[in-house]
Amino acid sequence: MTATNVTFKVFRFDPEKDTEGRYQDYTLAVAPGETILNCVNRIKWEQDQTLAHRFSCGSAICGSCAMKINGHATLVCKTQAMDKVKDGVIRIDPIGNLKPLRDLVVDLTPFWKSFEKVEPWLAPDAHSAPEKERLQTPEQFAKIDNSTTCIMCAACFSDCNVLEVDKRYYGPATLAKAHRFIFDSRDARTEARLRKVTEETGVWDCTHCGECSTRCPTETKPLARINEIRQAAMKAGMHDTSGARHVLGFRETVGKRGLLDENYVPIRSVGFFNLAGLLSLAPVGLRMLARGKNPPFIPHSIEKAGEVRAIFAKREELNK
Ligand code: SF4
Ligand code: SF4
Repeated sequence: MTATNVTFKVFRFDPEKDTEGRYQDYTLAVAPGETILNCVNRIKWEQDQTLAHRFSCGSAICGSCAMKINGHATLVCKTQAMDKVKDGVIRIDPIGNLKPLRDLVVDLTPFWKSFEKVEPWLAPDAHSAPEKERLQTPEQFAKIDNSTTCIMCAACFSDCNVLEVDKRYYGPATLAKAHRFIFDSRDARTEARLRKVTEETGVWDCTHCGECSTRCPTETKPLARINEIRQAAMKAGMHDTSGARHVLGFRETVGKRGLLDENYVPIRSVGFFNLAGLLSLAPVGLRMLARGKNPPFIPHSIEKAGEVRAIFAKREELNK
């Protein structure tokens, strides 16, 4: 096996000496099949014992070793080093949306705190306690199979772009954890849980960018779980949020007219009688008008709108 020389550009930060982070280069001969965790361990053990990083099992189970590799979060024990070399270099940073404490170690407090919002424990009906354990059928378990695989590595939290701008957002891992209990056949608090995660800063604030699912090293795939929660909330008639009204507005315009009416949907989303909400749209509307970006007041007619309506109608029929 031929080893290749690779430069590791590693983020360093010592709170006792540095006011901001810097990069330090280390060169290693990397053998085919070596993981990035192995390389970081070798840097520490063979070249620089001051480097701080977290790891434990080395088997993609404990979730301790998430780091940013070339700008994206990944579990480094599961990542082949040679797959990430770009022009002879691999850049390593601490995971994002969390404060670096030292080098590659971050303060995970906001990540752990976010789980408190969804009471991540089973709440079965106390009045119907069975004599032995509460059983599930394979079909019932299948509904939570994916969300139970989360290893709490925070890779999704790191790369979520909503968390970058709004620290109040529940975050993908927390919403996946909520899913795990909302869809658990043994839990008795389904409706209250659904209400909680559909409130402001919950599932409707996700922008569908998909980063969380791309970065997730397990089958949790948070975006898919978020979508399942949204569907469950809509089915349960929880339509009194701007996110739900946005979906309804979308359905009404695309379903009935075969096109998206961009003037109608924002107004439908904030609510027709919500004066403060309607006024909050005014600055954006005026800016769009000033720059000629406003959608036409009477939507363009489009060819084959009837086909779009027919697809929508078929979908609605299947949903029923
Ligand atoms: S899909 Fe939603 S939760 Fe996932 S990273 Fe994007 S905004 Fe965050
Ligand atoms: S959802 Fe995936 S990426 Fe997020 S903490 Fe769980 S395992 Fe990690």
